Amino acid sequence: MEHIVDLGFIEECESWRLDSRFFSSKVGGKPSWLDLKNIPGCDIVKCKKCNDPCIFLCQIYAPYENDDSGFHRVIFIFVCKNNNCCQDNNSDNFVVLRSQLPRENEFYSSDPPVERQDWQPDITADKWMKICHVCGLAAPSKCSKCKKINYCSRSHQIHDWKNGHKQSCNDTNTDIIDNKSSLLFPEYELVIESEKISDDDDGDVKSELEKENKEIEIFNSMLESGNAGSLQNDQDVDADLLKISTNEEDENFIDFRAKINKQPDQVLRYNRGGKPLYISSKNKINNIPNCEECGGSRQFEFQIMPQLLNDLELNHELNSLDWGILAIFTCEKSCVPKSGYAKEYLWKQDIIDTKNDQQ
Ligand SMILES: [Zn+2]
Ligand SMILES: [Zn+2]
Ligand SMILES: [Zn+2]
Ligand SMILES: [Zn+2]
Repeated sequence: MEHIVDLGFIEECESWRLDSRFFSSKVGGKPSWLDLKNIPGCDIVKCKKCNDPCIFLCQIYAPYENDDSGFHRVIFIFVCKNNNCCQDNNSDNFVVLRSQLPRENEFYSSDPPVERQDWQPDITADKWMKICHVCGLAAPSKCSKCKKINYCSRSHQIHDWKNGHKQSCNDTNTDIIDNKSSLLFPEYELVIESEKISDDDDGDVKSELEKENKEIEIFNSMLESGNAGSLQNDQDVDADLLKISTNEEDENFIDFRAKINKQPDQVLRYNRGGKPLYISSKNKINNIPNCEECGGSRQFEFQIMPQLLNDLELNHELNSLDWGILAIFTCEKSCVPKSGYAKEYLWKQDIIDTKNDQQ
């Protein structure tokens, strides 16, 4: 029997609902830390390519129900936004952290939270630690002039200085407002639901896609013989599909499209212990490294879909942030990390156009 897959969809919501106290999954903004006294600094989430601190992309609240040490459990994903750090089938610009707490802990009640804005609003990380004004990481150094604002790194201090703090620093009358930094991604709730499964559907979509693929083959052969113009005018040809069609027929891609076509807005597929849904038959993972904390094996937990890119308000320059899928592999036992955070494994799979461009 196939695993039941949970799907994630993004929704706009009031930002208080995404506070740490409600254990939400979310995209963008600053991280909603779980362990409020132990927040990682920029050294832990630095990009392996450029050494800048990575920016918070999303977090998934995914408890281990049968293990008290993982009663609360969050996986955080960070990414470097510098254009040159994003390369095909390479995940050096990502950092994944796992954090967990037992049911009895010093921050949260052992009963579920009450979803009201005025319910225990003092459960916040900045009560315990200094947090970077730009990105939400631990921030040991402060602006030496006004001493009101903290930063995780020199690069974020410089960023903030150029983006408004130069003006507000000397202004003693105004409080520092927490304006949304341009470095952060737009903030959404990540709502998780079970996938609707119907096998008949699956077959239908699949045969439709196979038909589509035949059409592409015909189109390609017409391209080669220089006859494509008329066809292009007659039919509404999907540009993305054409780009992909220049590769040879890919069974994985057909399968991928069939699965997501039913709920095309999905940005996440959660299937702990299952298999990733690959977007291509090339560059699949063949060796999952063991947990760096306990040495035990890792398993697939979830994947981020390319649909999420549409909601990140990216500037679509050449080499800007991009992915096919991001598959996340985590410690099977979900061991207790010694320093509070375990680094987990991310595999980035892209679709690469292997034939030269025909336009
Ligand atoms: Zn980088
Ligand atoms: Zn920062
Ligand atoms: Zn200042
Ligand atoms: Zn482990």
